[in-house]
Amino acid sequence: MDIHEYQAKTILADFGVSVPPGALAYSPEQASYRARELGGDRWVVKAQVHAGGRGKAGGVHLCDSEHAIEDACDKMFGSKLVTHQTGAEGKGVYRVYVEAAVPIEQEFYLGFVMDRSTQRVMIVASAEGGMEIEEISADKPDSIVRSTVEPAVGLQDFQAREIAFALGIAPGLVSKMVRTLQGCYRAFSELDATMVEINPLVVTGDDRVIALDAKMTFDDNALFRHPQVAELRDKSQEDPRESRAADRGLSYVGLDGNIGCIVNGAGLAMATMDTIMLAGGEPANFLDIGGGATPERVAKAFRLVMSDKNVQAVLVNIFAGINRCDWVAEGVVQALQEVQVDVPVIVRLAGTNVEEGQKILAKSGLPIIRANTLMEAAERAVGAWQNDLSMGHQLRIAK
Ligand code: GDP
Ligand code: MN
Repeated sequence: MDIHEYQAKTILADFGVSVPPGALAYSPEQASYRARELGGDRWVVKAQVHAGGRGKAGGVHLCDSEHAIEDACDKMFGSKLVTHQTGAEGKGVYRVYVEAAVPIEQEFYLGFVMDRSTQRVMIVASAEGGMEIEEISADKPDSIVRSTVEPAVGLQDFQAREIAFALGIAPGLVSKMVRTLQGCYRAFSELDATMVEINPLVVTGDDRVIALDAKMTFDDNALFRHPQVAELRDKSQEDPRESRAADRGLSYVGLDGNIGCIVNGAGLAMATMDTIMLAGGEPANFLDIGGGATPERVAKAFRLVMSDKNVQAVLVNIFAGINRCDWVAEGVVQALQEVQVDVPVIVRLAGTNVEEGQKILAKSGLPIIRANTLMEAAERAVGAWQNDLSMGHQLRIAK
């Protein structure tokens, strides 16, 4: 789960990282009022969206009057900000963060990520701040400092000092850098984050070390034990199909194709998507309904898949090990009776009680297209979808 910059800054500040004074606003008037409260004569007004690259996309404005703040807000509020991280449709701007502007002397990049090869938290830092890490690694790879943290002991002060020295920070500022690194690491590990990124971390003319930007991502599987983090979720920034699925305990990823997939098990879901592509089609989604596919779960899955207007055929691919094909078949039949499914449905069942499952599908009288193997199922799904387009929807399940 991603959170907003202002939320990440609040969290990091609690862990001892310095951030500029700032306040959140939901309207242009509120933004200028907030600026007055903050005081000073230069502010930064920043669109709060779950994406980086806002600066280059018109989502960060340096303002020196209340008038300029309202102008910047007028441009941003209600718009869709398109950055290189949002995709073409962009992300809606409904909140802005107003901060006292900071005079920048030096900019650093600081990132904390999970390094899968060492199975450790890795700190990635560079004195080339301000640029995206992808640009830094392409243009200035030698500037990147990497350091992995031994989980049994956590980030050690000597290690943090080494990073600070490697970045060439002035000796008088090393302790502030160490405090920043320690704060980020503690926030990362105590809150089950998967990513903390500060870009830029700046040194100011008056020798402060400040996080000018902050980004945090959390492990969804650990959110249950951090309710104070879970409540920071902002559904306006998520794919509505994915948030509906997450609310129902289903694992769903929306894709761009036309063939909806309902599958039990993530590995099988991947294989199903590959096979659909191999058969010449494109999956509309990745949907893992999990091990115990009860009729209710199958119905929920159908509802979710059918809420995607791009879906023109649905492929159900179930391998029943602990589960039973007859239960799944009953679920499919029940779902098709309850949910408006007006596209061809292809079902492939394999495993425990497959014969009974097939009988239930056959007896239902529903125009379900059955398949015995995954390849056959994928070919029939692609074929049904193409036929459906050319034959005027004759294969559709009429209600
Ligand atoms: P991003 O583009 O989404 O990563 O947003 P950032 O928060 O990193 O802001 C983009 C850029 O705006 C930064 O790299 C800075 O160059 C600039 N910026 C942001 N806040 C300030 C500030 O307080 N003072 C100054 N001088 N520049 C700022
Ligand atoms: Mn940034």
